[in-house]
Amino acid sequence: MIRVERYNLYYSNIPLKKPFITALRRVESAESIVVELICTDGIVGYGAASPTAAITGDTLGSIAYALDKMLLPSIVGKELKCDLLGTVGVGLLHNSGAKSALDIAIYDALSKAAGLPLFRYLGGVKRSFVNDLTISIGSPERMAHDAVEAAATGVGALKLKLVGDGRDDERINAVSDAVPSVELRLDPNQSWTLDEAKRVLGSCKNARITLVEQPFHFSDRINGSILKKCVSIPIMADESVFSPEDAETVLSGGEADIVNIKLAKSGGIYPSLKINEAAKRHGGKCLVGCMLENPIATAAAAHFALACDNCVGVDLDVPCLLEYDPVLSNVSFENGVVSLRDEDAGLGIKELGRLSMIAESFGMGERN
Ligand SMILES: [Mg+2]
Repeated sequence: MIRVERYNLYYSNIPLKKPFITALRRVESAESIVVELICTDGIVGYGAASPTAAITGDTLGSIAYALDKMLLPSIVGKELKCDLLGTVGVGLLHNSGAKSALDIAIYDALSKAAGLPLFRYLGGVKRSFVNDLTISIGSPERMAHDAVEAAATGVGALKLKLVGDGRDDERINAVSDAVPSVELRLDPNQSWTLDEAKRVLGSCKNARITLVEQPFHFSDRINGSILKKCVSIPIMADESVFSPEDAETVLSGGEADIVNIKLAKSGGIYPSLKINEAAKRHGGKCLVGCMLENPIATAAAAHFALACDNCVGVDLDVPCLLEYDPVLSNVSFENGVVSLRDEDAGLGIKELGRLSMIAESFGMGERN
């Protein structure tokens, strides 16, 4: 019998190549809490989560506290088995980032114990996905310049961050003129009104737009379905879907065609599989995204995407936005493609880069 013996919590901070600017926030580095779950028989599982306060409400302190004082103590000493997954978060509402970090670490350990890469453990089959690259909000000229630079790396899709200030159509058209063959995914991060959405999309008819992500506020239950009747471009729900119930609401209400599953929103792979099932029941599709996080978490999202049989694409560009990627796993994010090596059990993590013990700054994180 393999048991969860103890754990360590670490702080990771990796600078970005350039600031990441959306309608909700500006971020200059990817901070994360990293979980190391040490089990008997030499099995070690890794997970990570980042503070995305504007979306999930998680902060560095809340992730570290929830893991150290509530989630991890409840599994130390227990047998490493699938049943643990259903217990993550019982007795703790929200805190989806902390739950996701632990869920990923448990899955990494479980699949290592089974001797399988995580996607095989989840029943997935090997395939690869075309990845996108995010272009932060800037002037139309700046975004066109960044798009040309991004397209030169071989990326086949760009995700344009937009802000609803009356110039989004100029931004889209400038990028479209600069890189006409590249697929464009639009993400106003809730900043559009219905009129603005109609105006912008009506002004960009020649652009190769394949997706509009979360155009309206997450609480808006009306405008998505109205917009869907006016345009043929698929609409994807992001900030309005954290749970299987949310997916059912937006899909059955005709607000969206696709849901963006992010492990940090749903609380990990286990609940994300339930969102995938809910989407299938309501005729919707899924795309797998990520946060500005340590690549451990993005690698887990890539494994999940291979096992998510309703997944139509990925938005897993964070390792490409970092100044350097210190994590060596069995997932590669290079040249615009997410691909997995069908070897090395679990997430196949061999290197993690420089991490600091959480205990040094929070007075927590070590249990023997
Ligand atoms: Mg989004």
